[in-house]
Amino acid sequence: MVVLGIESSCDESAVALVANDRTIIAQAIASQDALHRPYGGVVPEIAARAHVEVLGPMVAQVLNEADMTLADVDAVAATAGPGLIGGVMVGLVTGKALAMAGGKPLIAVNHLEGHALSPRLADARLAFPYLLLLASGGHCQILEVRGVGNYRRIATTIDDALGEAFDKTAKILGLGFPGGPAVERLAATGDSRAVPLPRPLAGSDEPHFSFAGLKSAVMRAHESGKYAPADIAASFQQAALDCVLDRTRRALANADDVGSLVVAGGVAANLSLRTTLETLANDNDLRFVAPPMQLCTDNAAMIAWAGRERMNAGLLAEGGDPLDIAARPRWPLDPDAEPVRGAGV
Ligand code: ATP
Ligand code: MG
Ligand code: FE
Repeated sequence: MVVLGIESSCDESAVALVANDRTIIAQAIASQDALHRPYGGVVPEIAARAHVEVLGPMVAQVLNEADMTLADVDAVAATAGPGLIGGVMVGLVTGKALAMAGGKPLIAVNHLEGHALSPRLADARLAFPYLLLLASGGHCQILEVRGVGNYRRIATTIDDALGEAFDKTAKILGLGFPGGPAVERLAATGDSRAVPLPRPLAGSDEPHFSFAGLKSAVMRAHESGKYAPADIAASFQQAALDCVLDRTRRALANADDVGSLVVAGGVAANLSLRTTLETLANDNDLRFVAPPMQLCTDNAAMIAWAGRERMNAGLLAEGGDPLDIAARPRWPLDPDAEPVRGAGV
């Protein structure tokens, strides 16, 4: 079985062909970084228009590279949310058109489920249930992944996402966009103990994350003129990772019988984060699984894979999802989770 995946929920246009045996047969990712850089962040309307321009040709290119046609594809999986709604609509309508033209089932995939299952694309041995830190540009959650479509949210952020905190720190320090990799590079040259910064909610009885206060403290430290940017970057990264470690440790104590500690989402590309969590996993006799870097940030292979997982788990209706299914700006993985104050879902 081969699934064609399409991703367009933020500022990456991506198309991939993934086989049942986890082979990524072909893939393409068009980053829009250069388009958004002048604005210091993603501009939704620019993103949606760019997806319109590139997605069609990218589908042709990927099929061509694989020496396949639409007839060789068994299903079309497209991100249907959550994300910037204009972009999501572009990718979803592209998927619908291909599904209709080829007479293939459509699979409307939750982008967060794509991130959540991406470690299983990379590692065939990763079994359910696992404890997942999903840390990206828009989300910071700890989930107990019990099975495909079965997620229990243990923690979320009450304000900013972890990737957002990296991006804002980068902006404050004038490192440009996207910020995460730039902060990580600069942090490697600084002293992580140089700048006193808070660890919001660390040690708290509630399970959640908070990064807004940390970002404000970074801003004040920068404005004081007392610290080198590299020291601020290193101290910020250390403070953020201390929070993640504290919250993940707390979540582990509240998770049922998980066999692995897993990290996914764009921030999972951060090497210090990976090392921190790997140590925590070892201390708790858990396997540690992190997808390769290219599968951490947004990509279409994870969307195709999530589609394949949904099909194999029997979660897809005969013939696929309805072709009039709507794009969703918000779409929580755990619909039963208690709402928290702030922006987290
Ligand atoms: P969501 O998945 O929540 O909808 P998104 O799709 O925009 O958000 P991703 O593409 O999964 O997010 O991740 C992008 C985020 O990851 C950005 O905030 C970026 O700064 C961050 N990021 C990427 N690489 C690194 C890194 N090496 N260190 C820290 N953060 C990183
Ligand atoms: Mg991006
Ligand atoms: Fe993402």
